[in-house]
Amino acid sequence: MKPEVVIVGAGPVGCSLALGLAHHGVRSLVIERSREIAQESRALVIWPRTAELLRDWGAWEPLLAAGRFTTLFAPHDAASDTALLSVDFREIADSVESPGVLFIPQYDTVRILRERVESNPLCELRFDEEAVALEQDESEVRLGVRGANGTTTLAAPFVVGADGAHGFVRNALGFTLQGATYSTRVAIADVGIESGAHSFPSPRVALDAPGLLLGIEYAPGLWRTIASVAPSVGDDEALATDAHANRIAHLFGEEARSSTVLWSSLFRIHRRHAPNFISGRVALAGDAAHLNSPAGGQGMNAGIHDTANLAWRLACALKSSQCAQALLVGYDIERREMQSDSIERTTDLATRLAVYAPPSLKRFAFAWMRRSLRARGMRRKACRTLGMLDGRYTRSPDVDTSHPLAGRRIGDVALDNGRRINAERRGRAALLCCGEVRLEGIETLALAKPPKRWLLKHPSAIVIRPDGFVAAVIEKPTRARVEAMWKRAFCCASPLPGTEGE
Ligand SMILES: Cc1cc2nc3c(=O)[nH]c(=O)nc-3n(C[C@H](O)[C@H](O)[C@H](O)COP(=O)(O)OP(=O)(O)OC[C@H]3O[C@@H](n4cnc5c(N)ncnc54)[C@H](O)[C@@H]3O)c2cc1C
Repeated sequence: MKPEVVIVGAGPVGCSLALGLAHHGVRSLVIERSREIAQESRALVIWPRTAELLRDWGAWEPLLAAGRFTTLFAPHDAASDTALLSVDFREIADSVESPGVLFIPQYDTVRILRERVESNPLCELRFDEEAVALEQDESEVRLGVRGANGTTTLAAPFVVGADGAHGFVRNALGFTLQGATYSTRVAIADVGIESGAHSFPSPRVALDAPGLLLGIEYAPGLWRTIASVAPSVGDDEALATDAHANRIAHLFGEEARSSTVLWSSLFRIHRRHAPNFISGRVALAGDAAHLNSPAGGQGMNAGIHDTANLAWRLACALKSSQCAQALLVGYDIERREMQSDSIERTTDLATRLAVYAPPSLKRFAFAWMRRSLRARGMRRKACRTLGMLDGRYTRSPDVDTSHPLAGRRIGDVALDNGRRINAERRGRAALLCCGEVRLEGIETLALAKPPKRWLLKHPSAIVIRPDGFVAAVIEKPTRARVEAMWKRAFCCASPLPGTEGE
């Protein structure tokens, strides 16, 4: 099989991209230098936005079966076992199909995604192959790959570096990650908690600890502890048996002090991204492009969101070479904006509060959040922010931002036929007609009464991209205006639904 896209790295992001590309009919080859999957838990959470993408690509059901899904996100005070706040994702059940959080360790996520990739006829996954050289011209990229039989060259129209924080591809493009590294280090451990008959609510936060001390249950009886480490404490001291035992006792009580530490490590945390996410025919995605603080649990999720944006663009670019550069530039602008204006801000705020704020300020912040969550609008906002359903592309060249809905993810509401928008379009572009709209010869989805929060003043046609974002809202639409907006969104690479034969 000759690949149209070569993906470097079979982590969660590389595998998601391969599945996303296959969904659009694109053949990809994923090369991965190591068959082993790191056994530390790393990303533990799959948020609702990520769930809807993985569902489109056929990976959600096996992940759901392997993880622990909960509609309630309620961090508890470890000292009193009382909820510090409670976010119930069912609050937004009218606009998201999976209103909840899936707790699943990253090694299970990667294992399942790799299985899906290996069983997909449009994907090939090769282990023990490492990208070591890269060059490109206007028509293709050539990748030097070192494997068991020496170094060979792979050529493909596009290459994507999903090879993680220290990846080869970003370095080969000459990009360094820009931003800041936090002064604190973070000690992370996976711990088997012997709790007897007592079950601890998760996540649990030791509010009285200086800095951050948090526990998250990622599988029955298995917890991740996360603790910030003061500058005066040495690396060995931070990971010493006593240090872990003190943290465990603080979070779970003295009787849990001797619980088993399965794995632990000390990390520096960052807020950094590459100056560009593309160069010519090469793109970066996931940790290769950006690094966040784990506060907020968004790193892996954000990487998977990159791939939803990139997959349809690459599929379009392969159909229409004159549009390729514009499509990739759109990826670069949109995902860098989302990273710097939304994801980095959220995780930075969470880090500052969790790590640097004194206990009194943390208590005040939780009390303030509890009070604001009494209002329904704030509860919905909290669900959307936590669930990574918010965020807007305002600088995109292919989004017409004149309407406030454009550049945002479309709410997955029920259509007139009773099915949800996403179930009906299943990861494909669609034209949604709201109110009395007639567009002869074009296949459309119909919604007579759109939600008031969409702020539609007139009957409108909404251009929905494959990644679920609104490219344009056309009020009182005519066929000519719809065609123009469709072309702006997808360049000339994708015909309007129902007009393929014209
Ligand atoms: C301690 C810790 C806790 C975290 N907690 C969370 C969390 O709670 N929530 C969250 O969303 N995120 C979290 N993250 C971040 C998350 O783990 C990363 O964002 C995620 O792993 C990024 O996936 P990726 O596929 O981009 O990169 P990686 O997972 O790093 O995968 C890259 C792959 O590329 C391969 N590779 C590298 N170089 C080459 C090469 N030259 N040729 C071929 N293959 C290559 C590697 O072997 C690897 O398999 C955490 C990270 C850490 C370290």
